[in-house]
Amino acid sequence: MTDGDAQQAARSAELFERARAVTPGGVNSPVRAFQAVGGTPRFMVRGEGPRLTDADGTEYVDLVGSWGPMILGHAHPAVVDAVRAAAISGLSFGTPTEGEIALAEEIIGRVAPVSQVRLVNSGTEATMSAIRLARGFTGRSVIVKFAGCYHGHVDALLADAGSGVATLGLPTSPGVTGAQAHDTIVLPYNDVDALKAAFAEHGERIAAVITEAAAGNMGAVAPVDGFNATLRDTCHEHGALLIMDEVMTGFRTSAAGWFGLDAVAGDLYTFGKVMSGGLPAAAFGGRADVMAALAPAGPVYQAGTLSGNPVAVAAGLASLRNAGPEVYRALDANAARLGTLITEALTTESVPHRVQFAGNLVSVFFSESPVIDYAGAKAADTWRFPPFFHALLERGVYPPPSAFEVWFVNAAMTDAEFEVIADALPHAARAAASAKESAR
Ligand code: PLP
Repeated sequence: MTDGDAQQAARSAELFERARAVTPGGVNSPVRAFQAVGGTPRFMVRGEGPRLTDADGTEYVDLVGSWGPMILGHAHPAVVDAVRAAAISGLSFGTPTEGEIALAEEIIGRVAPVSQVRLVNSGTEATMSAIRLARGFTGRSVIVKFAGCYHGHVDALLADAGSGVATLGLPTSPGVTGAQAHDTIVLPYNDVDALKAAFAEHGERIAAVITEAAAGNMGAVAPVDGFNATLRDTCHEHGALLIMDEVMTGFRTSAAGWFGLDAVAGDLYTFGKVMSGGLPAAAFGGRADVMAALAPAGPVYQAGTLSGNPVAVAAGLASLRNAGPEVYRALDANAARLGTLITEALTTESVPHRVQFAGNLVSVFFSESPVIDYAGAKAADTWRFPPFFHALLERGVYPPPSAFEVWFVNAAMTDAEFEVIADALPHAARAAASAKESAR
């Protein structure tokens, strides 16, 4: 525990101890445990607009946003009202409801290559179902993924994954069988030559390439010019499908997600986070002929007791309906403003760094050179991150507790939040400057 933790997080520390007795590592998703940065994970009790309050009553400017969903800020009145209204009418029926149609229509209306949608409960379920569908549709088994991209904890997709797998420094996970790993080819992100070589050798066995439409799980690493278009063209030359994973970018980087920025159409899409409004909901969708292979229309099985849950659907629909052009302008402006403040503070302290953007996803690499792939992300001075993080946390700013995650802005941020960030960053930059490589 740092000195700041001891003063600031006594109640969180108590709760963490209690949690560890009943839950592995004390958390229900690994990155929440602060393992890569040390110290006490903050137990939150309230979120309002751009701020969070923890169990010790400390307030933070939130730059995690529940890992992406909260583009409107916390407890947006329209979303809370929609959830309340849905809940009063019944929590779950296990029958079709009209809200599910409306949410599917909203998604299809925003992302042109998506003609049909199936709702699920998490991004993991979306990617798992999309690769099963791709395999069923093509009759092939091999999936290509990119190192540093994270697509949820799907067995076949954990190899060299980003997010928590990167944070914990795991190459893959015990429990994934050789057969599952055998059908996955992992390539360096942004490497067209490696892609072409893989297709030259295995083209007839490849069912799909899955990619983050822009990588956000090794930090913000946008596709280099033409990369996504090359993925699409190469897949199509070889009869494979392109799965655009927009769980993180979807409905955040623009009204139409990353597709709204580069217009490269995937055959299948996966969505989650923003379209859930903060409740458990996600989706996959895409070309009508491919989606027609899904049960009950076709033979590829996929199902869910709580899929399309009316309360989750209401939250997602209200979030999307309240995310108009002004929200996307605010997200872009807030990301740019945050990036500028980080750059200024680190430059003043002569800390080698790169603030990178993928649309309005922001992250900082402690690196001299631009990062375009996972090797570059791992080669950065990640040991500078823990003291940088804690200096921010102690001054009321809550960034992601990992050097491999992006920072998520929201549209509710005002000058007051940027003042807190601007006041905290010089301290954090000094902490990063004086960090020692052996220190955690
Ligand atoms: N795909 C991407 C690009 C993600 O960022 C994530 C989660 O961070 C997932 C899939 C998995 O989503 P979930 O955590 O809802 O299972």
